[in-house]
Amino acid sequence: MRKSFAIIGLGRFGGSVCRELIKSDQEVLAIDSCEDRVNEYMNIATHAVVANAQDEATLRSLGLRNFDHVIVAIGEDIQASILVTLMAKEMGVPRITAKAQDEYHARVLDKVGADTVVHPERDMGIRLGHKLTSNNMLDF
Ligand code: ATP
Repeated sequence: MRKSFAIIGLGRFGGSVCRELIKSDQEVLAIDSCEDRVNEYMNIATHAVVANAQDEATLRSLGLRNFDHVIVAIGEDIQASILVTLMAKEMGVPRITAKAQDEYHARVLDKVGADTVVHPERDMGIRLGHKLTSNNMLDF
């Protein structure tokens, strides 16, 4: 089934989520405060806009609350990531996934309403560890 996603932050993480969702024929609104990043996704995402997601009026005018799923992929600006997650929650977005920089950030994102918190470097490390272990076991 086709769902609507809004991705806030088009770094390596947000950008690759965007490409995958488009490959799966989903509707994606890509948002970033950096014009160059948005230009890169203009012909990839369904829609791409330059906007500061920390501005609540902007999020409302983009109709954020009407999306099935919002992905907060802002990395270094922890304050922005927390605030945007909180605003999406308050607007009633049904599903929110947010990217954390570390364990403390992850705990706050969880408290302000993220349904799923991802920590790409840690999660990938865990997966690789499991994979290497199971491959080793198969080798024996
Ligand atoms: P990655 O590891 O995914 O490359 P990162 O963890 O280094 O990303 P940043 O580069 O800090 O994270 O942020 C990801 C994107 O989020 C950037 O393209 C940045 O312009 C965008 N961004 C940061 N703050 C905001 C904001 N307030 N509104 C919209 N976009 C923002």
